[in-house]
Amino acid sequence: MKFIDVAKIHVKAGDGGRGCVSFRREKFVPRGGPDGGNGGDGGDVYLVGDEGKSTLLDVTFKAIYKAKRGEHGRGKDQHGKKGDDVFIKVPVGTVVKDYENGEIIADITEHGQKVLVAKGGKGGRGNMMFVSPTQRAPRYAEDGEPGEEKILLLELKLIADVGIVGYPNAGKSTFISVVSAARPKIADYPFTTITPNLGVVKGEYGESFVIADMPGLIEGAHKGVGLGTQFLRHIERTRLLLHFVDSSDFETPMDIRYEKIREELEKYSDELSKKKEIIVATKVDAANEEFLDNFRKYIEQIGKKNDYYEVSALTKNGVKELLKRVEKEIISLNEKDK
Ligand code: GDP
Ligand code: MG
Repeated sequence: MKFIDVAKIHVKAGDGGRGCVSFRREKFVPRGGPDGGNGGDGGDVYLVGDEGKSTLLDVTFKAIYKAKRGEHGRGKDQHGKKGDDVFIKVPVGTVVKDYENGEIIADITEHGQKVLVAKGGKGGRGNMMFVSPTQRAPRYAEDGEPGEEKILLLELKLIADVGIVGYPNAGKSTFISVVSAARPKIADYPFTTITPNLGVVKGEYGESFVIADMPGLIEGAHKGVGLGTQFLRHIERTRLLLHFVDSSDFETPMDIRYEKIREELEKYSDELSKKKEIIVATKVDAANEEFLDNFRKYIEQIGKKNDYYEVSALTKNGVKELLKRVEKEIISLNEKDK
């Protein structure tokens, strides 16, 4: 199963600097030799694997990545400086393709791995380089070569960091659509009837993470539909669960909205049920106040007060606080992994 994040970027390496035509001028030396320096090479563009990144979201904030051109050569034997290189950080696991022909340029599999994607143009030679026995005072120099330019297609298989569980209609899809900065493509999804809803969230502290709802887990369980082990394996890789409970519901008893879902989780997957869980009362703009009061008491009873949030996707109340907490959890889980 693949969730794919894609990004299209334009990279342009720096052009080479021009070579210089110049002749030495010294006191008492009427005709000095040629002293025009070479142009510097243009800067290169590299992609660099970075395990601190989990999505391609940041990469797309810039439409074009340009490296500096090389400096032109100057007189008095001075060569131009090489243009600065540009390094673009991408998540480990990124596959780099040439957008024009679809060819794979590189597979970034390691932290710190550097891949040259656009080579800077060579600097032109200055006239001092063309001196020969037959040509003592060349009056020409070369232009720099243009830097390489390419459109790249980056692809990354995503793993959802955060999974949302909850009774049908708890507000999972709505929440994801409200908090997402991007919607990755879903490819090769084996369950045609249960398509996960997926979004990339750009966090306040600079972390971006993938949030997915887990339809089918409970809906399927409810209908007695067995789920593929592939699906389970995928959701088991999430780091954190958000358990959504609809506070605006006047009918469904509380134990079904929360405890029943916990039971289903345990039945389905031991590993999943042991994940860190944050409980979220949703739709508080339309809350059933009596239910909400009881639920808050219940949360205290089960000792989950510090892992409890109330949100409304409609008014955005509480959404920011919840996302901050989620991001902090992800950051601390990432720290532990190191
Ligand atoms: P899901 O089944 O968990 O994915 O639930 P949905 O996101 O599809 O939402 C179910 C219904 O609740 C929809 O009619 C939404 O418009 C509504 N809903 C979702 N979030 C809110 C909210 O914050 N406030 C209110 N009043 N309604 C909401
Ligand atoms: Mg839904």
